[in-house]
Amino acid sequence: MPRSTLRRSLDPIAIAGCAALWALWALWAQPAHAALPAATGITWNVTPQQIADHCKQRIAEATARIKTLDEQPAGAGFGKGLLPIESAVADLSDALAAEAVLGQIAVTKDVRDAATKCSEDLADFGVKVGADPAILAFATTARDEVTATADRALVQRYVEAGRRSGAGLDAAKRKQATALFERLSKVQIAFQRELSEETPTIAITHDEATSLPPSFVATLKAKGSGYVVPVNESTALPFMKNEASSAARKRYRVAYDSRGGPANVKRLAEAVALRDRLAHLLGFKTWADYQLDTKMAKTPARAMALLAQVDEALLPKAREEVAVLAAMKRDGGDKAPMASWDYLYFENQLQKSKYAVDEEAVRRYFPVQKVIAAVFQIYEHLLGVRFEEIKPADAWAPDVLEYSITDVASGKAVGWFYLDLYPRAGKYEHFAMFPLRAGRVLPSGEVQKPVSAIIGNWPLAEPGKPALLTHDDVITFFHEFGHLMHNSLSTAPYETIFGANVRQDFVEAPSQMLENWMWQPSVLKQVSSEVDTGQPLPDELIRKMIEAKHVDDGVRWSRQVFYGTYDMTLHSSGAHVDPTRLWFDLSRKLLVFPAIPGTLPEAGFGHLVGGYDAGYYGYLWSLVYGQDMFSEFAKGGVDSAEVGMRYRKDILEPGGSIEPDVMLHNFLGRDVSYEPFYEYVGIKKLAP
Ligand SMILES: [Zn+2]
Repeated sequence: MPRSTLRRSLDPIAIAGCAALWALWALWAQPAHAALPAATGITWNVTPQQIADHCKQRIAEATARIKTLDEQPAGAGFGKGLLPIESAVADLSDALAAEAVLGQIAVTKDVRDAATKCSEDLADFGVKVGADPAILAFATTARDEVTATADRALVQRYVEAGRRSGAGLDAAKRKQATALFERLSKVQIAFQRELSEETPTIAITHDEATSLPPSFVATLKAKGSGYVVPVNESTALPFMKNEASSAARKRYRVAYDSRGGPANVKRLAEAVALRDRLAHLLGFKTWADYQLDTKMAKTPARAMALLAQVDEALLPKAREEVAVLAAMKRDGGDKAPMASWDYLYFENQLQKSKYAVDEEAVRRYFPVQKVIAAVFQIYEHLLGVRFEEIKPADAWAPDVLEYSITDVASGKAVGWFYLDLYPRAGKYEHFAMFPLRAGRVLPSGEVQKPVSAIIGNWPLAEPGKPALLTHDDVITFFHEFGHLMHNSLSTAPYETIFGANVRQDFVEAPSQMLENWMWQPSVLKQVSSEVDTGQPLPDELIRKMIEAKHVDDGVRWSRQVFYGTYDMTLHSSGAHVDPTRLWFDLSRKLLVFPAIPGTLPEAGFGHLVGGYDAGYYGYLWSLVYGQDMFSEFAKGGVDSAEVGMRYRKDILEPGGSIEPDVMLHNFLGRDVSYEPFYEYVGIKKLAP
């Protein structure tokens, strides 16, 4: 899951947070049309026609199996109802593992198109299974039958899915729910389309362009004696960090915060009203209650309590950080008060003058081969595993690497993974871990081993030179590899609760914890090697990198508190909320800089219609829990194989079979504490 989906805006960029690739929870192929099966058993070399045929045939088979099971007498519970259903769905996932993911990674467009169609058909199949009243009936009966931890977790997931989809409603109400879900989906798509299709711009003068990087100006269209600047995610940072004219920055910011416009405000209000009606229909008080029912936080009140407590600690720090920048602005001769459009510019000036970390100089210390080898070493040592390259790789593209994973203590095979690290035409454009196949115990008792991949887009090397990574690239790789280990070392027996199929607001916590490794001086030395001299990163450079990281923690994270609070309040205030008024009211309370009058920032907040509705708090939530887990390594040492093995047993192995609160208690040996998070962002702990 990529780290880049945290709301990027004109506010400081926070790292961490992954897209919901889990919806794609991908699937594997039994070698139905295989010539020579690879070690993984997944067949990658398929034609568009084979994909279409195979997909159709397998979905039809699974549908028929489920139909037969549905017709069993009422009262069939776990063994005769739910378990065979779970097997039928998992068999389908396995059979179509390659087809489910090739849409994003295949080399040729015809294969990508055929596979994308298959993914859509699989998604439709999944929706039908989730809304099947017979399956909900099996699950409800099974609740009184099962005692084993994993069985109970599996039953619980099916009960939740049935309830959330409306499978338990009478026919008339189910029809109503379906209509509401369909309308909601249309409104959400229209909101996103508005954002992707509109192309707002501002004009700047020749003088105003002089402070911008020449490489940036070279991309702008000339107009009269000046330039036209497109206002979007990709220009926001280079422009706002470097534009010296406060007036130009203000024009940009106003345009940026007006994206989506009144049409999107209307759509957002409609989405909130539809969600509220759906929540009531499905038996919940609010949409937030509906969404949190299947999360670790469980209730909106618990999520809001965390946000409020963190905000109380962070906002004073944010004000202090801004005061430093305001003094810089004054000292520079600009007497106007510090405003929201000034923040990034002066923060960048502070970074340059005080810390002077040259990203290009840092890159020279991170050649790709060194980083991969060192990251492997760290995970091997920490988690008691060994990785071995399989040559030649059996994969979907020529430069993909394939590895096996072995457990060192037992010598047993654990699973496989792939690294597909460089750009190709038509390939997935971010950097993420894709679970290709879940592990599980097959009905025969045999254990099926998991397969995962990291799909990325590292910069290609210049001819004759090794490819070099930024520190941020290195952190991303380490983060995604943490997800890969979650998907490899789980021992949960069912696909539905395997690996990183944990509660959605916990899934990032392990990888957010692991990012800490790439900020430890000892580890940074271990993963770095200057491309000419072979020397590790110098102490002085490491010190500056670490200091620079924390310079905007208060502003950065109080902003995240604001987004989370806005989202949660919007989705727990009934059907008639005014999205704009709520934004302005809350921004006055929770932000150093309130919203700019006349703008409509919520009209451009795609997360609210992109699957993070009543879920945005999850970024901060999982970071708080991730930092608490890290406190165990801070105590025992980031190279402690003893703590690493406890982490593997208590957090990674259970997957979704144990609730996160319980796993955390097992690992920490105590209740969760916010203190490590407060230390991480440089604030003292609050009175209890
Ligand atoms: Zn992630």
